[in-house]
Amino acid sequence: MTHWKTLLRDAITDPAELLKMLDLPADHLAEMRQAEQLFTMRVPRNFIARIQKGNPRDPLLLQVLPLGLETLDVADFVEDPLGEQAANPIPGLLHKYHGRVLLVTNGHCAVQCRYCFRRHFEYQDQNPGQKGWQRAFDYIAKDSSIHEVILSGGDPLTLTDQSLKGLLAHVNALPQLKTIRFHSRIPIVLPERIDADFIALFKETTLNKVMVIHCNHPQELDRSVLKALQALKEIGFTLLNQSVLLKGINDTLPIQLTLQHTLFDYGVLPYYLHVLDRTKGVAHFEVSESAAKTLHKAMRHHLPGYLVPKLARETAGEPAKTLLNE
Ligand code: SF4
Repeated sequence: MTHWKTLLRDAITDPAELLKMLDLPADHLAEMRQAEQLFTMRVPRNFIARIQKGNPRDPLLLQVLPLGLETLDVADFVEDPLGEQAANPIPGLLHKYHGRVLLVTNGHCAVQCRYCFRRHFEYQDQNPGQKGWQRAFDYIAKDSSIHEVILSGGDPLTLTDQSLKGLLAHVNALPQLKTIRFHSRIPIVLPERIDADFIALFKETTLNKVMVIHCNHPQELDRSVLKALQALKEIGFTLLNQSVLLKGINDTLPIQLTLQHTLFDYGVLPYYLHVLDRTKGVAHFEVSESAAKTLHKAMRHHLPGYLVPKLARETAGEPAKTLLNE
């Protein structure tokens, strides 16, 4: 099997090439290139294989293709909607919620999701690198209420095994830490990353292990994803999913019902369904809060309680996510 790093390097980064691969006309290439200047494009080939050729409205394509709409200035859509740049006491560490801290491990992702709320995040200022982690873990050691470390990014699974091993050693060295949690889109977009070396790395730790995957649409799920998720489950990872509600992509009841049922077949329970964070350049993805609540109500009528994700919004400065359930 091709190594995941080769697959990562081999991702498509040119909109013209992507359109060609999908038998789509390059009508709006100039606008796409402008959008790409603001936030680069990156799509792994395995993910492209799940996009329907010839369909410009494909729900997976719409998540990854730069559009001119991203260059528009829309009121209330700002660069740092969650105030994250102010919530980090030291570079790379966000301490927003009680009991857990989030480490921004790096700025790399296997895919560049066009709706991403961190598309303007200054990763170069936040990523402390291997040496800098000591400061983050010194901070954690001074606060005994912290029992969980969340690895986020970018995508923490783009870190090398060596870097992950270093982070794991830091976490294992603090007995107050009980849980290591990953937030990653990689099990969906680059499932080959969950290889034998990765599994060996996490097999032995006695920490609680949580993988919050990020799947927005049932079409993202295929046999390669299933294999990765099964491997994680076998070594004791709890698998949860969070999605973002995206206009024209997953904002209908049939799509949401299929998504929750299919994820359950894959061993994943729902966690959050987020309304969009109002980041500059993503306004065209927004579903209104009232439409989101109506959809969520219908989901509650059709699904058993354990398959209903919590509908939530993150608000800058709030001590927890705001639940939007009626
Ligand atoms: S994988 Fe996550 S952090 Fe990376 S671009 Fe997508 S949504 Fe943003």
